[in-house]
Amino acid sequence: MTDVPRAGARPSQPLPSSIQETNDIPVIAAYDVIVVGGGVAGVSAAVAARRTGAAVLLIEKGVMLGGLATMGMIAIFLPLCDGRGNQVITGIAEELLNLSIKYGCDSLPAVWGGQGAAVRGGRYQSVFSPAEFAVALDDYVDEARVDVLFDTAFSRPIMEEDRCRGLIVENKSGRTAFLAKTVVDASGDADVFARAGAPCAESTNWLSYWAYTAELRGMKEALQRERVAAGVQLRQWGRGPDGSGNETPTRKYLGTAGFEVSAFIRDGRRLAAEYLNNEKRRDRTLAALPSMPQFRTTRRIRGRTVLDEASVGLRAADSIGCTGDWRTAGPVFEIPYGTLVTQELTNVLAAGRIISAAGDTWEVTRVIPTACLTGQAAGTAAALAAASGQHVAALDVSELQTSLRAQGVAVHLDDVIREGV
Ligand SMILES: Cc1cc2nc3c(=O)[nH]c(=O)nc-3n(C[C@H](O)[C@H](O)[C@H](O)COP(=O)(O)OP(=O)(O)OC[C@H]3O[C@@H](n4cnc5c(N)ncnc54)[C@H](O)[C@@H]3O)c2cc1C
Repeated sequence: MTDVPRAGARPSQPLPSSIQETNDIPVIAAYDVIVVGGGVAGVSAAVAARRTGAAVLLIEKGVMLGGLATMGMIAIFLPLCDGRGNQVITGIAEELLNLSIKYGCDSLPAVWGGQGAAVRGGRYQSVFSPAEFAVALDDYVDEARVDVLFDTAFSRPIMEEDRCRGLIVENKSGRTAFLAKTVVDASGDADVFARAGAPCAESTNWLSYWAYTAELRGMKEALQRERVAAGVQLRQWGRGPDGSGNETPTRKYLGTAGFEVSAFIRDGRRLAAEYLNNEKRRDRTLAALPSMPQFRTTRRIRGRTVLDEASVGLRAADSIGCTGDWRTAGPVFEIPYGTLVTQELTNVLAAGRIISAAGDTWEVTRVIPTACLTGQAAGTAAALAAASGQHVAALDVSELQTSLRAQGVAVHLDDVIREGV
């Protein structure tokens, strides 16, 4: 799909196909591990790398941590369990679930909150407040002593053959460079891998738009009685991941091309405007809008291993943790370390919704708890590789598994916490 402006930009003469850039770029600092993207995967990677002894820089182009879970208002922390009473995801994912509801609103079934009997009830998931989660994440990375650069976009990798020596970033300081021993790409879009020339797969998206509205009905009367009666609601317009729902527009969007992303953002807000036009002015208001595009799938790496539907229930010798399927009770996957690394790049790891998972399995691995899990594994591996000087693809996986177990991760299906059905 080509990415072209709809109007304007009419050149009076033919455009050159490219322009050469030569700049002196100041090098600001060197770290053991740099993590690109401060979504749940990036935060998990940064904290895990720091706890494994690395000096860590986390780069985020937005102004808060959490990515889609905060700026994107995706306020449902999907299950840590398999739907049959077994907790399959542990470790930092569980820490972040608890952090997301630390300051208030939640819907966690009491039995999963540590108050219940051995037999679990309901799925181990919760709704949360994106704003409260963002505030809690600040403290979380501070406590781990991760350096964070907000409002800073990763621009280019500094490549030496198949090794990424560091990153060029853009922020209010201008264009600067940071050096790293290993890099974790948690950008949600595999920006580091793609710009370093590693093979990636892309996917288009149906339009979805999630935002908060507030119910104002009865507000006037409530104010007269000095009471506040506004109810805040997370509204979901557009279509589901499979295109379900028949709202317009009927086309899909590509999340890796500038004008396409802009059209996606603009068309999402059109759905919000329709809602405003259809509801009585006095009865409702838009309370908060997302501040990042809500793409489910954009680009993922083609890793050394590709997780697919056939992997369900299978033991992976290089497993870094387990995940259930949020859509249905029963299936559990072991996630191979090979889904986080490529043959092509020697010191870059993938985390979150960009790991190597094909077909329907991308649906399983792209959600919040699994993104935390792969973030924790990628961050730990990045720190181990930085300390030993090993290529990430040649890392001693048993050492990584030992470290993850010590951090409380259920590495194989045998480690899954079984509480009974
Ligand atoms: C409509 C929709 C509904 C969903 N529903 C659910 C749900 O109910 N429950 C659930 O668990 N999951 C759901 N998901 C999926 C889930 O929200 C995400 O897949 C998950 O949060 C991904 O986390 P991540 O850290 O991998 O990526 P992201 O959250 O995308 O984080 C990537 C971060 O990297 C930053 N970044 C990107 N590029 C750069 C760059 N060049 N330089 C610096 N920073 C950069 C971004 O600003 C962002 O903060 C949904 C997703 C969508 C879109």
